[in-house]
Amino acid sequence: MIRVENLHKKFGGFSAVDGASIEIGTGTITGLVGPNGAGKSTLFNVIAGVHEPTSGRVLMDGEDITGLPPHELFHKGLLRTFQIAHEFSSMTVRENLMMVPAGQTGESLWKTWVMRARIAQEEAALLKKADEVLDFLTISHLRDEKAGNLSGGQKKLLELGRTMMVDAKIVFLDEVGAGVNRTLLNTIGDAIIRLNKERGYTFCVIEHDMDFIGRLCDPVIVMAEGKVLAKGHPDTIMQNEAVIEAYLGRGLKNKDKVGM
Ligand code: ADP
Ligand code: MG
Repeated sequence: MIRVENLHKKFGGFSAVDGASIEIGTGTITGLVGPNGAGKSTLFNVIAGVHEPTSGRVLMDGEDITGLPPHELFHKGLLRTFQIAHEFSSMTVRENLMMVPAGQTGESLWKTWVMRARIAQEEAALLKKADEVLDFLTISHLRDEKAGNLSGGQKKLLELGRTMMVDAKIVFLDEVGAGVNRTLLNTIGDAIIRLNKERGYTFCVIEHDMDFIGRLCDPVIVMAEGKVLAKGHPDTIMQNEAVIEAYLGRGLKNKDKVGM
């Protein structure tokens, strides 16, 4: 579904992504792992239209989508979540979900005036959809809670929920498991597996927790220093010499570095 060809992204003179080529097959849950600073989030940001690449191409189903802005990618069904959750903290969980779909009739004032009935209909449909999503994620009890009061893990679930309000084809999840307790991580994992199996979502998942990666992902792609080191089944990938070396070497050098 996604093909990244020889992608480079420089910040000043520094190559955050240094000639990475990857493929994400339709229907897969592809893992993206690597030490902090490997360029994983930057690669996501380029694919998702947040950053322009310095060079290289991104194709979706054969179509060149390089440099398209996030809202255009959104309409093509390409969505991403952020390493740090972006919730509207003073709105309820349900309202947060209802904010998602782009192109609602209510967005334009003029249409608001002439199309009241239509808007009421859309709102009712959105409400129903939001409640289905909350149910699916087993967080219906949090419906009327202010999003700002959620735990870190619950905010990650809400981010995942926002991708379910539209018909996503491929969802990029950046460290959904960071700071999340084991129970909630399992809930997130279950939701991802169900979305993949029942709704045909393709996923690309950045995550440090190798148990989580091992349970969900096949294949796993390993990055280090802006480059792709290896790709394969999670069981074999962690025995790869280059991968072990990257983790050990970088792990020491970058032990104080916080992921971005
Ligand atoms: P990862 O997600 O694998 O931890 P990142 O993609 O966040 O890695 O970062 C890769 C490298 O690029 C890091 O050294 C980081 O400091 C640098 N970097 C990321 N974003 C920026 C930016 N906006 N400006 C400058 N340097 C950046
Ligand atoms: Mg990152």
